[in-house]
Amino acid sequence: MTKERIYLFDTTLRDGQQTPGIDFSVEDKVQIAGMLDQFGLDYVEGGYPGANPTDTAFFAKKRTQRASFVAFGMTKRAGVSASNDPGLATLLQSKSDAICLVAKSWDYHVRVALGCTNEENVESIRESVKAVATSGREPMVDCEHFFDGYKANPDYALACAKAAYESGARWVVLCDTNGGTQPAEVGEIVRAVIAAGIPGASLGIHAHDDTGQAVANSLAAIEAGVRQVQGTLNGIGERCGNANLVTIIPTLMLKPAFADRFETGVSAENLAGIARLSRAFDELLNRAPATQAPYVGSSAFATKAGIHASALLKEPETYEHVPPETVGNTRRVMVSDQGGKSNFIAELKRRGIAVDKDDRKLDALISIVKEREAQGYAYEGADASFELLARRTLGRVEEFFHVESFRCMVERRYDANGNLKTVSEAIVKVLVDGEERMSVAEGNGPVNALDIALRKDLGKFQAEIGDLELVDYKVRILNGGTEAITRVLIESQDDTGRRWWTVGVSDNIIDASFQALMDSIIYKLLKNRDDAVLAAE
Ligand SMILES: [Zn+2]
Repeated sequence: MTKERIYLFDTTLRDGQQTPGIDFSVEDKVQIAGMLDQFGLDYVEGGYPGANPTDTAFFAKKRTQRASFVAFGMTKRAGVSASNDPGLATLLQSKSDAICLVAKSWDYHVRVALGCTNEENVESIRESVKAVATSGREPMVDCEHFFDGYKANPDYALACAKAAYESGARWVVLCDTNGGTQPAEVGEIVRAVIAAGIPGASLGIHAHDDTGQAVANSLAAIEAGVRQVQGTLNGIGERCGNANLVTIIPTLMLKPAFADRFETGVSAENLAGIARLSRAFDELLNRAPATQAPYVGSSAFATKAGIHASALLKEPETYEHVPPETVGNTRRVMVSDQGGKSNFIAELKRRGIAVDKDDRKLDALISIVKEREAQGYAYEGADASFELLARRTLGRVEEFFHVESFRCMVERRYDANGNLKTVSEAIVKVLVDGEERMSVAEGNGPVNALDIALRKDLGKFQAEIGDLELVDYKVRILNGGTEAITRVLIESQDDTGRRWWTVGVSDNIIDASFQALMDSIIYKLLKNRDDAVLAAE
């Protein structure tokens, strides 16, 4: 039996951006779009070109390779033609493959928010969809407040959806914008829309989590016939969040109720990377991953020792609804690390490091990583530090230079003009080839001063790190109180376009930063040598 395709639509960069406390830079957006594209999403919605400088800059280029790159914007205003609407014109200039138009479908909102007639709104939908189609892009329409609108005035909500479909929208997306609709209502209304003449193959669902049922509502809509599902990474979004794609995707792919009937664009191999995707995204947001997140949380397959643990060791299926490795997670029972071991080998292999499963150094590496993670290191978000640690433990990493000592000073004083200023200065003593070099630098804060001093004179290696650039710096306090532990993550890049994250942990923020800076430089020197070997082959 051929399976029906479910199309996955990500709106992390647009709806997810509405989350309080989240504000993506263009760089963040490029990185997230790349992650989603590689993972196998069908559509990556990037934002609202023209609405703000970030989104306009983001849409200056197409940011996906496989996924359809989607711009979001409003239908044309009433009273102007599609060709004279400035908002629509900006959308049509964006480097997008598809355009998702948001349209009102609740007559109450048409009256209050748009201030035009119901007929004018339907006309705006028709004309805007046609203009998108004429531009050669795939048109789709988000019917805002569709479920509430349908409950208030079913004929009008349907008229809006049908106007979109009949004018050529590839997808008509039914939105539960206020997030209060119940799963049974979603199923019933979707069936009514299909009965009214819009095939399920052209319908999508966009659910919000205000009653904790965005995932359930999305699945109910799929069961009732829709074939596109929208959501965000880790369910971020306004208020209580959007439907969580990190929960929906494994459910569609692993639960027979869906997996027997449907397929998605995500491969089984990529699904096994979903835990890593979810955690990497949290790292990018600089927030702790939810330990109890379905499928991907660190507790999702954890069992405390006791009767469950012994049964679990004999027959894992007894207490697990899906095998943890299918979503890249690990079983955590306090006695065995077999699951951990195969994960480690896979992780090392991904980085081109071959190791035998019986190698004792591998056991040593696993215990060092566990110990360090208990101290606060987060290697999921610091790939370069992980690779360095693995290469140091399993083989050898050249000691390029040795830092004898460093000193940092922060001074707050009045200058000659009587203005209060804060000055940071750092002194670093480094040994290169047995020769001591001392560098002094002032910086914008102590970490910056330390960074400049450390990278000022590395002797024969100096020319090699000329293109090393720090692009991001994140600090997280891991526990409160006066003895708080600080974790620092640093992202670096060089002229090859390579980007890498390193980590440092200490009860002293300067020391944590220093560790991450050191790892970054050593990783850079190591990669330069890897590149040289590759070029020679
Ligand atoms: Zn939304």
